Amino acid sequence: MNILLIGSGGREHALAWKLSQSARLTKLFVAPGNGGTSLVAENVAVDPTDHAGVVAFAQRERIDLVVIGPDAPVVAGLADDVRAAGIACFGPSKAAAQLEGSKGFTKALCDEMQIPTATYRRFDAEAPALAYVRRHGVPIVIKYDGLALGKGVTVATTLAAAEHAVRDCFAGAFGASGAAVVIEDLLEGEEASFFVLCDGETILPLATAQDHKRAFDGDMGPNTGGMGAYSPAPVMTDDLVARTLREIIAPTVRGMAARGTPYQGVLYAGLMLTRDGPKLIEYNARFGDPETQVLMLRLQSDLLELLEATATGKLAGHAAAWSPDVALTIVMAAKGYPGPYERGTEIGALPDDTPHRVTFHAGTVRDGETLRANGGRVLNITALAPSVAEAKAHAEAAIAQIAWPDGFWRHDIGWRAISRERNARLDR
Ligand code: AMP
Repeated sequence: MNILLIGSGGREHALAWKLSQSARLTKLFVAPGNGGTSLVAENVAVDPTDHAGVVAFAQRERIDLVVIGPDAPVVAGLADDVRAAGIACFGPSKAAAQLEGSKGFTKALCDEMQIPTATYRRFDAEAPALAYVRRHGVPIVIKYDGLALGKGVTVATTLAAAEHAVRDCFAGAFGASGAAVVIEDLLEGEEASFFVLCDGETILPLATAQDHKRAFDGDMGPNTGGMGAYSPAPVMTDDLVARTLREIIAPTVRGMAARGTPYQGVLYAGLMLTRDGPKLIEYNARFGDPETQVLMLRLQSDLLELLEATATGKLAGHAAAWSPDVALTIVMAAKGYPGPYERGTEIGALPDDTPHRVTFHAGTVRDGETLRANGGRVLNITALAPSVAEAKAHAEAAIAQIAWPDGFWRHDIGWRAISRERNARLDR
């Protein structure tokens, strides 16, 4: 099979790395790719926002399956245009991607299907939103109702911060001005991510993970796209996985099919594990970044088979096999990220990959023999080991070999799971 993978992050390097291991793969292209995808595939200068250009390339190269990595092309409806040209596509339609693209849409579906989530109100004007915030009091969560690169959410503990967030949303701080806000009650508990494949009807559970959104150690500093992750998430017991499937995922898939917009692709549920059980915080209509990096290191099945079955409505009968070990990834980012940072800084030689440790590239570019940083999140050092603590140590040993003075990373990825492991040992 010939495959065209859309995207250029660490998630896409991880997907390309895994797809390249499939016996059924003939040729893999990545558009536009990065300095890591070029090691396992051919990078092509096709602009993902130019849907006609993507389709023309796919027709010319006899692509059998287009796989969409990031959220922007999914929400822009690239899958619809690829499918309209008669080419199979892994990625939801524009209508189904509203699960990620519009928080108001997802909240309305939760109401309709009685899916557990935070109580909310949606406002499309500032004055009633401010009045609601003042009536409700804090803590309260203010969300811009649209794609905001993970930056459109404010968990406000003071009224001033809540009012400020509402005004920012309507002033266009996170996206188009004049948009709407969703205002929610605060949920308390531990967060976890859960990934499933869905072909419109059949659901194939993948795995659980936990990520680290804040830039600095101790979960301090600004929110980022994600500074590290590990899988599985020990907090997600079998019972919680079963409840999540029954109470959250299955009704979502039923509700989307009933609306005539079946969900086809990977569905990524951000969950809060509250005292009353799992509640949906948000959906993403694509794989997580950096969660995909840990999922791919653990996945033992053929990714190509799974993505093709999802895209063609034939998931029934498929299963995914996973390493019982823990995978953990540490993101090396350019100093300054998520604020302004320098591009083009030189990265020294990377340690060789092994079956248990892979360096996935995010924002890198090759400049002759030299590897250079070309983005905020740059490298994802990913390791597989029997425990979270060992996987972390393994990843850190690789980082110690990388000479990149312009980078930084968190030293505490996996701290919740590692303290659980320590407590479990003490209990024995
Ligand atoms: P979202 O973009 O909706 O996933 O929100 C980003 C982050 O904000 C989540 O990962 C949570 O840490 C936090 N968050 C969002 N909604 C809530 C809520 N209702 N209660 C507590 N924390 C929340």
